[in-house]
Amino acid sequence: MSAGTPLLETRSLTKEFRGFKAVSDVSLTVLEGTIHALVGPNGAGKTTLFNLLTGFLTPTSGTIVYDGQDITGQAPEQIAHQGIARSFQITSLFDQMTLREHLELALASPTGMGMQFWRSVKRMSVFKDRSMELLDQVGLVDRAGAPAGSLAYGQKRALELAIAMALDPKLLLLDEPTAGMGIEDVDRTIALVKQISTGRTVVFVDHNMHVVGSLADTVTVLQSGQVLAEGSYEQVRTDERVITAYLGA
Ligand code: ADP
Repeated sequence: MSAGTPLLETRSLTKEFRGFKAVSDVSLTVLEGTIHALVGPNGAGKTTLFNLLTGFLTPTSGTIVYDGQDITGQAPEQIAHQGIARSFQITSLFDQMTLREHLELALASPTGMGMQFWRSVKRMSVFKDRSMELLDQVGLVDRAGAPAGSLAYGQKRALELAIAMALDPKLLLLDEPTAGMGIEDVDRTIALVKQISTGRTVVFVDHNMHVVGSLADTVTVLQSGQVLAEGSYEQVRTDERVITAYLGA
């Protein structure tokens, strides 16, 4: 990893929905080894941009370059295989499955083994050990055998982070990692994201400015699908255009 090298770049990225530009001519550079925040008022295009980066949507025009390769138009699985993982805002856990089973399945899936293989081999020790390591990293190792449905909200979000980490991603995309959390869980999540971002690149969306200020090396502010401002948290926080966009003045 070398600091200052772009890991992810979008060039004039545009997504139109029936003529409406949800993402409009966005050129974004995410440097390797940094934590990059995407912020902006509701409807600014943050989710659409995330969906473009992860292949869930195909751009109308423009390109996405990741690790020197044009990945525009690739399917989500192809993109995931190249080391981009995404943690979802909306919980995607199975209540009856234990925490360890979630991790084992996540570890089996990117190898192409998936559910069938995972069922038939029933927890190879290599997956078991790695699952426990990942749970330990997010502070849930004591709950390894518990069903995911028994976790508190903040713990579920931590489990989702561990699942995203199972791919050992080079680029981790976090969709509102602290949404709906109380202050204690927010601070725990900030510490956790700092810890797991060591040696990787993180792009996250969050509305909580305490989170953005605590984590982000660079902040890109979107408004109406376009880049309104970019810089350090201090720079964008004091930018008149950003203040106006947020306050609607
Ligand atoms: P944000 O995540 O910043 O709140 P979104 O990316 O969800 O913003 O949405 C940006 C704009 O694009 C909004 O005006 C939204 O209504 C519109 N939009 C998003 N997805 C679709 C879609 N599938 N069809 C039509 N319009 C959409």
